[in-house]
Amino acid sequence: MGVSKKILVIPGDGIGQEVTAWGKKVLETIAANFNHTFTFDEGIMGHVAIEATGDPLPAETLDKARASDAILFGAIGHAKYDNDPTAKVRPEQGLLKIRKELGLYANLRPIKLFDDLLQASSIKPEILQGADILFFRELTGDVYFGEKQRSEDRATASDLMIYHKYEVERIARKAFEAARTRRKKLCSVDKANVLEASRLWREVVQEIAKEYPDVETEHMFIDNAAMQLIKDPKRFDVVVTGNLFGDILTDEASQIAGSMGMLASASVGDRVGFYEPIHGSAHDIAGKGIANPLASILSAALLLDISFGLKDESQRVIRAVDATLRQGYRTMDIANKHTANDMLLGTDAMGAQVL
Ligand code: ATP
Ligand code: MG
Repeated sequence: MGVSKKILVIPGDGIGQEVTAWGKKVLETIAANFNHTFTFDEGIMGHVAIEATGDPLPAETLDKARASDAILFGAIGHAKYDNDPTAKVRPEQGLLKIRKELGLYANLRPIKLFDDLLQASSIKPEILQGADILFFRELTGDVYFGEKQRSEDRATASDLMIYHKYEVERIARKAFEAARTRRKKLCSVDKANVLEASRLWREVVQEIAKEYPDVETEHMFIDNAAMQLIKDPKRFDVVVTGNLFGDILTDEASQIAGSMGMLASASVGDRVGFYEPIHGSAHDIAGKGIANPLASILSAALLLDISFGLKDESQRVIRAVDATLRQGYRTMDIANKHTANDMLLGTDAMGAQVL
């Protein structure tokens, strides 16, 4: 029996337009092959939305988002705002607002290096081969949202690191649930030797761990975790951490996968999930037809798995990406400069190879 789901596609700006078309095509193909009914709608956000309506997140897009089961997003941004830091209305406001409005509190970032891209990474192949990590970064708490202060004479400034018990509980549960479907290992990262917010974090994770006796739980300090990630990434399965540590750790980990053009992420809460490549709108290559569509295609795979629970379908997409790379097809960002065997493709030809 197939499932029936509503998907909102928000391509956004720059290469978001080019790559999201392929994420969507992959979802259409999966629906056809597995007898599912996916109904698509499209929404505008970011610079294109500002141009059309004056609002980076028009109410119509937000309404469509609320009415959907999952959202496939591209990227937002435009060079004109980079040169004008004072612009009142900016594309990124749309992204922050939609995250808040949809209650998305956990950011998931799978880090997996495809075997055929071992050479594309800056880390030694023998250290990397087989690394497969799923990060859970908390999105609503921490120093980002605690009280901020600055003395009038500019002698001191402070940001309050604050976590609520319920915030730790809900993300810990999501991370443990995911660990159950993987290698059943969870590493919680904090700085509990120094920080009170981290001590609460650790206590709460320990409490939730009792509900998951089948998952092997460890706690690690952020400084050690940052080192272990480069020294021995294979030791990690699921990693759960706070907003600030997660921000840094996931960018560090992105280097394990070689290129930004290969990485997908999901933001989830209690209902609708939001899926996007980790890269931005990349206006330097927009419109040239050379952007790597694989991060969007892998975002679609993540959507199938996390929002719809369609594991076989998700694996089918990942295997298709793997097979495409094995055959030597590459976009510019993942081409190996040291061999002549790569077949260099543009966005559409690469997407078509995966389908
Ligand atoms: P934004 O401001 O929206 O984050 P950006 O200009 O910072 O956009 P990013 O998307 O963050 O650009 O990417 C940085 C660089 O990495 C780009 O300049 C681009 O050359 C490269 N890049 C990013 N995504 C891809 C991709 N999918 N395929 C190929 N190259 C990419
Ligand atoms: Mg960027």
